Amino acid sequence: SLPELAARSAEAVPDRIALRVDTESSTHRSLDDAAGRIAGWLASRIEPGDRVLLAGPSCLDFVRCYLGILRAGGVVVLANPAYTAAELAQLRTDSGAVLAFAGAEPARRLGDLPVVEFGALAEQLAGEPVAPVPGPDDNALLAYTSGTTGKPKGVPLTHRQLVVSIRAAMLAWRWSADDLLVHALPLFHQHGLGGVHATLIAGSRARLFARFDPAVLAEAAREATVLFAVPTMYERLVDQQAENFAGLRLCVCGSAPLSPQLASRVADTFGQLPLVRYGTTETGLDVSNPYAAARAETVGIPLPGVLVRIGESAEPSGVDGEIQLSGPQVFEGYWHNPEATAESFTADGWFRTGDIGQLDPASGHLVIRGRTKELIITGGLNVYPREVELALEQHDLVREAAVAGLADAHWGEQVTGWVVPSGEVSEADLLGHCRELLAPYKCPKRIYFIDALPRNQMGKIARSELDTPAGLASA
Ligand code: ATP
Repeated sequence: SLPELAARSAEAVPDRIALRVDTESSTHRSLDDAAGRIAGWLASRIEPGDRVLLAGPSCLDFVRCYLGILRAGGVVVLANPAYTAAELAQLRTDSGAVLAFAGAEPARRLGDLPVVEFGALAEQLAGEPVAPVPGPDDNALLAYTSGTTGKPKGVPLTHRQLVVSIRAAMLAWRWSADDLLVHALPLFHQHGLGGVHATLIAGSRARLFARFDPAVLAEAAREATVLFAVPTMYERLVDQQAENFAGLRLCVCGSAPLSPQLASRVADTFGQLPLVRYGTTETGLDVSNPYAAARAETVGIPLPGVLVRIGESAEPSGVDGEIQLSGPQVFEGYWHNPEATAESFTADGWFRTGDIGQLDPASGHLVIRGRTKELIITGGLNVYPREVELALEQHDLVREAAVAGLADAHWGEQVTGWVVPSGEVSEADLLGHCRELLAPYKCPKRIYFIDALPRNQMGKIARSELDTPAGLASA
């Protein structure tokens, strides 16, 4: 289990700084000791398998509580600390959480759920440490999907699934005890949390930030070996001094599509392409570009132990279809949601990601086209928003673009673009530009100019929030 592996690192490298979050730091030994004590406090309050909500900004207490809950055999329910009282209440009801550890802000929005606040863990840290309770097949997490395409769904993940998934990536990325990871990703999502798992398992070091400030992250990157970030963060890091990034051996990128323009700007500043990887909450990390041989336009090849197929076909055919995954990292089904579970697995047990892509027959690399739920059907023809976004972003005066279908009486849906311009450009210019690159049915019918794209914290475009000026005015 994860706490057992963390305890092993605490024995192997007790005095190494495991984590530095903003200005606080902890060695592997003191982190493990805190986890043991919190677990001791929890032992008389929860049963193994009970859910404990964890909501807060990244801080040392977040990680101490995370490990403590796991060590006691509890299941961590990860909550976005920005959730409203109503969203937290929904998470609480859905998960059946009996207790919470939280930052001051979300703590106030948790209603009558018993809550221990970060920064006030004196009693929890004073008890007798206990040994890790859970076994590999016990649930560790109840993670929730980002809700990009609907309501967040609860995803139970066992210790084995978490450990297998991150270990496969660590192997592919040559992670060692000498690594120093830096990131400013939230810890309530798998991408950022995976970095903590790797650090605990390898006995390496991590420097984390609760807030993303490009200058601060760039400064911290000077002594780091590995950086994790999402494309929207790279977008702001490329304006920093190149020398900050010269010592990094690996720059991982994922959670949202990376545009070729941004990839090459990263290469200019960082001296290397970002290493794109692909995963989902339900399946952890699944696919990654090969170490030191990254390409910008693919998400790479399956990680060790992971099986990828397109539709029901195992052979790379260069044809688009649904990306399906199998392997020991895949979850077994959604929390209390048998309908969603039935829809998400094929009859022969593969997980249906809802992403569309293809496997390149020559290289075996996976290319992602978009998501089934975001597909636009216009006049009976399928259009992937991402393909149209890529075409728009090829225009020199387009900083970034989002594309979605708007309901249309004649076409069913009408391809519509939202563009953040980087200079003087008109709708007609961009429509003409699209007509040169795309078949007529894929071309946007209208383009709206906006200041910034609506995105969630992981940099995913919130397509449901794209609106027309009329809609925006009435909102
Ligand atoms: P929901 O299922 O609730 O709509 P979500 O699928 O966005 O939310 P996550 O599990 O956080 O929740 O995200 C997984 C998705 O992120 C993948 O299915 C894929 O669409 C996208 N993704 C992850 N990595 C990449 C990548 N490198 N390039 C493009 N898309 C990616």
